[in-house]
Amino acid sequence: MISILPVFCSTRLKGNWPSLVFAATLCACGPQQHDQRLDFYAFGTEVSVTLYSVTTPQAQSATEQLQAHYADVGHNWYPWRRGELHAINNAMRSGSRIDVSPRLAGVIRRAAEFELISGGRFNAGLGRLTELWGLHEISAIPSTLPKKADITAILADSPGAARIDWDQDRAGTRSDFVMLDLGGIAKGAILEDSVTILLDLGISNAIINIGGDLTVLGNVRGRPARIGIRSPGNRSPIASLSVDDGETVVTSGIYERFVEIAGIRYAHILDPATGYPVDHAVSATVIHVDPVLADAAATALIVGGTDEFDALTEAFGLDLALLIDSSGDVRLTPSMRERLHWIE
Ligand code: ADP
Ligand code: MG
Repeated sequence: MISILPVFCSTRLKGNWPSLVFAATLCACGPQQHDQRLDFYAFGTEVSVTLYSVTTPQAQSATEQLQAHYADVGHNWYPWRRGELHAINNAMRSGSRIDVSPRLAGVIRRAAEFELISGGRFNAGLGRLTELWGLHEISAIPSTLPKKADITAILADSPGAARIDWDQDRAGTRSDFVMLDLGGIAKGAILEDSVTILLDLGISNAIINIGGDLTVLGNVRGRPARIGIRSPGNRSPIASLSVDDGETVVTSGIYERFVEIAGIRYAHILDPATGYPVDHAVSATVIHVDPVLADAAATALIVGGTDEFDALTEAFGLDLALLIDSSGDVRLTPSMRERLHWIE
């Protein structure tokens, strides 16, 4: 996965915002301005937002608004707890239509778009399969492999976000098996929302890092942000690269999240063609100005593997992509090759 290489000094500021760690660094900022790092734990993931040259009121408003947004999406975009997505899935399962809030409707529509673009490699409508494999809850991991007949029955119906038909922002489907699981696209959408929140507050230099997927706004004290890429295997740094204003870097990997069934590890990314977890590719990194596209594309690249790398990078219009397969072979787009500095 990816980690930011610059080390942030950490003079803790006193503040009355619970459960957050503030860190400030000395910077060559204007009067009343400082750098500040905000740490959140949200939707099961560590989120760190580093703000450069901000005032205290800006940092305070950013904290409050980001925290409120993360709490909201943690509740409403997660299908296995009572919230909006849970209600949408329930309604569709019972054959009825349901009103979807505009932002969530937008994310679901984009998921459907990426399903079509990727020829089904990306599919955010396979929640029933996620459940079958116990990928959603540690307590739901089965002790034996799911039955092939159960997987086949789900896939025979061709579920997917693209099977949702919309009447304005009311969603319904004729499929018996569509269950939305936005795990492959949500972080990208949350990065996009975080950028909107910061820009609206007049904050134009920041790095938002959601569990290793990150968006860079502006620059870091006048210089482009630099990040390091770690080896998917032993986690040692293997390369570094600069990230320009407005770019998002997303990495999908099969090492970090998996379930273990009968002593064998199964990745949390499923191949929608077979219904089985992916094992042929280990990590895909995409850099793009559209965080939502970057997130969906990284997941699709893992599923497509080496054979489909060229077709998928073209289909998504990716200039900057990297794929490492299970034998350690690396596929790169030409621009990514130029951007990366390999560490010997
Ligand atoms: P990460 O969670 O490591 O950032 P991804 O963005 O690839 O990785 O998202 C993986 C999640 O997406 C899974 O946990 C699951 O919820 C969902 N998912 C699994 N397989 C697919 C797929 N083929 N297409 C879309 N979403 C998927
Ligand atoms: Mg993804």
